Amino acid sequence: MQVYDVLIIGAGPCGLAVGIEAAKAGLSHLILEKGSITESIRRYPKRMRFFSTAENIEIGGIPFPISEVKANRSEALQYYRKVAGYYHLNFKLFTEVTLVLKREETFEVQTVNGETYYARKVVIATGYFDFPRHLGIPGENLPHVSPYYDEPFLYSFSKVVIIGAANSAVEAALELYRHDVDVTIVHRGEDFRSTVKYWLVPDVKNRIREGKIKTRFNSLTTAIEPGRVQIENVETGESEWIDADFVLMLIGYVPDAALLQRCGIELTQPSMIPVYDPETFETNVPGLYLCGTVVAGIHTEKVFIENGREHAAAIVDHMAGRKIRQVKELIERI
Ligand SMILES: Cc1cc2nc3c(=O)[nH]c(=O)nc-3n(C[C@H](O)[C@H](O)[C@H](O)COP(=O)(O)OP(=O)(O)OC[C@H]3O[C@@H](n4cnc5c(N)ncnc54)[C@H](O)[C@@H]3O)c2cc1C
Repeated sequence: MQVYDVLIIGAGPCGLAVGIEAAKAGLSHLILEKGSITESIRRYPKRMRFFSTAENIEIGGIPFPISEVKANRSEALQYYRKVAGYYHLNFKLFTEVTLVLKREETFEVQTVNGETYYARKVVIATGYFDFPRHLGIPGENLPHVSPYYDEPFLYSFSKVVIIGAANSAVEAALELYRHDVDVTIVHRGEDFRSTVKYWLVPDVKNRIREGKIKTRFNSLTTAIEPGRVQIENVETGESEWIDADFVLMLIGYVPDAALLQRCGIELTQPSMIPVYDPETFETNVPGLYLCGTVVAGIHTEKVFIENGREHAAAIVDHMAGRKIRQVKELIERI
């Protein structure tokens, strides 16, 4: 029976960063990943560009050279793959972890394939991208409704309702409008979120002013049916049906709370922020750590690659009994 020093769950940028730190510290490691390497980024919109500059999403101290200031999806996929290869990271891909159990000094890590792996320490770095937020309304699970946007060609010459007002919603709306899609954005608030990339704001607002992208602000989506969406104005209470061949529910994602709880990690309510030491990222289960966006509970906008990658050094410092490198705490605890 092989017992790894560190078993890492999730091969996103933050999980890879832990693998690198473990390798540098001479700790044996295994990364279990339910999909491909950097699976979340692989599933991002095909033509997305990161808002961070390339150096802010580097890992392992390896420079990320690109011709522009900010990387696109494909450059990021190339970069993380090369860094993982450079550090000889040890993966088992397409292996979803279902449970982490502590048995005295050793963890038992179970997978959906029925395998069990053993480790002295475990780091959960599962991000959030597999768990879209729901509205809890009739019809949201219909086949023409999706929480993911990929590329525009599926939608050309169709009517699409986009629910949401953050970056994903705005980027999808602009790209769809430019591919002959009749787009309506529905949002419960009165404007786009303040976090929308500053260079997108004039573009989307001018298209709205010209009537090329339609909006229904201050509007709740109350039901979805094949071919149409029902919305209700929060100020007037009036309801209306909008034609929709497709509905994109781009309202964000949340970490897999059930997995964390099954592993014995306590969650704070109502923020769903797990109980962990903000210096070491060790949870209430000794030897079980969290890394990356999974620490953020419902506040996923607070922890991303730029700051989540830094958790790795602190975690491995703690495991190795070294002085812990400081990580700035960004989550306000409620
Ligand atoms: C469109 C978009 C643009 C973004 N742009 C930026 C940006 O410019 N800068 C920035 O810093 N951040 C950005 N982010 C956020 C950033 O991508 C995430 O915060 C980041 O990927 C988090 O890294 P992570 O390693 O914690 O999680 P992830 O990258 O999500 O990796 C988690 C991994 O765990 C795997 N996994 C999940 N559950 C299991 C399981 N049970 N068993 C095994 N494996 C599992 C997943 O398949 C995934 O590969 C963006 C996000 C989106 C959606």
